[in-house]
Amino acid sequence: MVKSVAILGSTGSIGRQTVSVCRDLGISVRALTTNRNIELLLEQAKLLRPAYVAACDLDASLELERLMIGTGITVLPAGEDGLRCAAAIPGVDCVVTAVSGAVGLRPTIDAIYAGRRIALANKETLVCAGDMVMKLARAQGAELIPVDSEHSAIFQCLAGRERELEKILLTGSGGPFRGKTRGETSSVTPEQALRHPNWSMGPKITVDSATMMNKGLEFIEAMHLFGVTPDDIEVLIHPESVVHSAVELVDGTVIAQLGVADMRLPIQYALTWPERRGSSCKRLELTELAGLHFMKPQLENTPCLALAMECARRGGNSAAVMNAANEEAVHLFLKRRLGYNEIYDCVAEAVAGIGFIEEPGLEDIIESDGEARRFVKERYT
Ligand code: NDP
Ligand code: MG
Repeated sequence: MVKSVAILGSTGSIGRQTVSVCRDLGISVRALTTNRNIELLLEQAKLLRPAYVAACDLDASLELERLMIGTGITVLPAGEDGLRCAAAIPGVDCVVTAVSGAVGLRPTIDAIYAGRRIALANKETLVCAGDMVMKLARAQGAELIPVDSEHSAIFQCLAGRERELEKILLTGSGGPFRGKTRGETSSVTPEQALRHPNWSMGPKITVDSATMMNKGLEFIEAMHLFGVTPDDIEVLIHPESVVHSAVELVDGTVIAQLGVADMRLPIQYALTWPERRGSSCKRLELTELAGLHFMKPQLENTPCLALAMECARRGGNSAAVMNAANEEAVHLFLKRRLGYNEIYDCVAEAVAGIGFIEEPGLEDIIESDGEARRFVKERYT
C-alpha cells in the first residue's frame, strides 16, 4: 500500500472520495489542489494537514495565499504550474490524477518522471497522448494503476494473464437515454443529462455518460492501458452496472469483476495494489439482483461512441482533437449555449476540420488541443 499521496483535483467527485479512502486507510496526504473551490480545499487542509496546496484559478490562488498565512502550508503557483509542482513534490509515493480534462496531461507526465505511482482517474490523459504516456511509463518503470471502474475491473481480471487475453469486454450502463434515437434526444436539457441512473460523478463525465462519449473515451483509454487494438475491445451495454467489465481469455473463459457502484473501491485498490484491504463499502448481494442484462450498443443512436471508436482506429492526433472539442462542447451545453445533439455535431466537425498528424509529439498534441478548442469557440459562441 502507498504511504503518502498528492491529490490533483481533491475538491471534485473522485478527489473527495480519495480523501475519504485515505482517511480510512491512514494514508498521509501531502498535497491538495482545486480549480476554484477554496472553501472545500480549506476544510480538507484543516483535516489532513498537507504540506502543499494549490488553486489553479488565479483569483482563488491569491485568496488561498491570504488564507494560508501562518499555517505553515505552502501555496503552489496558480494555473497548470501548480498542478505540475504538486505532481512532483518530494515525499510522495503516489499521485492521484482526479482533475477533469486534458489539463491532467502534463502533470501526469511530470509525476511519471518523478517516479511516482499514478492512480489514474483522469482518462483524458491517455485519450490525448496514450502512445507517448505509455511509452514513457514503460521506460521509467512507472506504475500506472487505473481508477476508472471499468479499467480497474479489467486490470483486476487480467492480473498477469495479458498473454492469454483474447478480448476485453468493456461494459457501460448506457446512461439516462439508453435506447433513445437522435430524434428523441433533441430537446434534452442539462438537468436531464446530469441525472445518471447508477453513478454520482462530476458534471463533465456525467454528460459524457449520457452521450456515450464517456464509453468512447474509455475505449481509447483501455486500448492504451492494456496495449490492445480496437478490434480486441467489445463494448457491451449493461444497464445494472454490476459487472464493471470483463476479459475473455484464449480458451473462451470469461473473467469478470462485479461489485456495487461505488468509486471508493477502485480508488482504494489503486492505492493498496498489489494488496487488498478491508472496506466499509456496501457489499454486493447477488440474491437481491433481479437480473443482469448485456446488449450490443446501437451505434446509430450513439454517434459519439462511434466517432471515438473511429478516432481510436485513426490514431495520431485525432483523439486529442476529439477530446478537446468535446470538453468545449459539453461546457457550452451546460451553459445552455449548445443543444444536446449539437455536442456530437460540434465534435465531429472539429475532427473533420482540423489537420491530421500521424505521429504527434507532446507539443503537437497540445497545439491540436488548443486548435480544437478555438474551432469550437469560433463556430458555436
Ligand atoms: P469533478 O468535476 O467532480 O472534479 C474535477 C476536479 O478537478 C475538481 O477538484 C476541480 O476543481 C478540478 N479542476 C477542474 N478543472 C480544472 C482546471 N482547469 N485546472 C485545475 N483543476 C481543475 O470531476 P470528477 O471527479 O467527476 O472526474 C475527475 C476525473 O476522473 C475525470 O477525468 C473523469 O473522467 C474521471 N473519472 C471520474 C469518475 C467519477 O465517478 N466521478 C469515474 C471514472 C473516471 P473545482 O472543484 O474548483 O471545480
Ligand atoms: Mg468509467
